Amino acid sequence: MFIESAPSGVERSGSIEVICGSMFSGKTEELIRRLKRASYARQKVEIFKPTVDDRYDDSNVVSHDKNTIHSTPVSKPKDIFALANNIDVVGIDEAQFFDDSLVEVCNYLANKGIRVIVAGLDMDYLGKPFGPIPGLMATAESVTKVHAICVKCGNIANHSHRISVEDTLVVVGESQEYEPLCRSCFSALFPPLDVSDGIGNKIKRELPGRPG
Ligand SMILES: [Zn+2]
Repeated sequence: MFIESAPSGVERSGSIEVICGSMFSGKTEELIRRLKRASYARQKVEIFKPTVDDRYDDSNVVSHDKNTIHSTPVSKPKDIFALANNIDVVGIDEAQFFDDSLVEVCNYLANKGIRVIVAGLDMDYLGKPFGPIPGLMATAESVTKVHAICVKCGNIANHSHRISVEDTLVVVGESQEYEPLCRSCFSALFPPLDVSDGIGNKIKRELPGRPG
């Protein structure tokens, strides 16, 4: 469990917190928990999400268990500047769909004394680092990786495997399009290494039992 540092009572310093993991790992639930905790303390909270994520509701951050909190859709990270005036805590959901300028925006806000909490997918459906999340993880004060459970074997899952055949990276969906898989079950489906240079073959030999 992530434990937030206790407010000191004097001027708070800004910071960046990243909550990341696969689909069905509870990222948004954790984001909502932290934001509600701050708003109970009468801190001014604003939540933003990319306009591309329009599932369920245009103006709510929505988690899978219908625990909702109001949010403002923005088309690009820069738009957050104008909307984050006199705010104590900025929450950003589905952050993987923003471009890389989100890293700069979050650091700017944190440098101004704002607590920035960012939730997003750490990897895309191919297992590659997703959008601005790696840069945010590198510059954040705290990173919380949350995990789902593999639907095939019950191990800890860190991959969002796409079941649907759509070919674009930006497919926002629910259980009918994705399933959480562990490293082993995911790599059994996707031979992970390029063997064209010989290095892949060498690594494969050194990992006994690796599928493919
Ligand atoms: Zn598995």
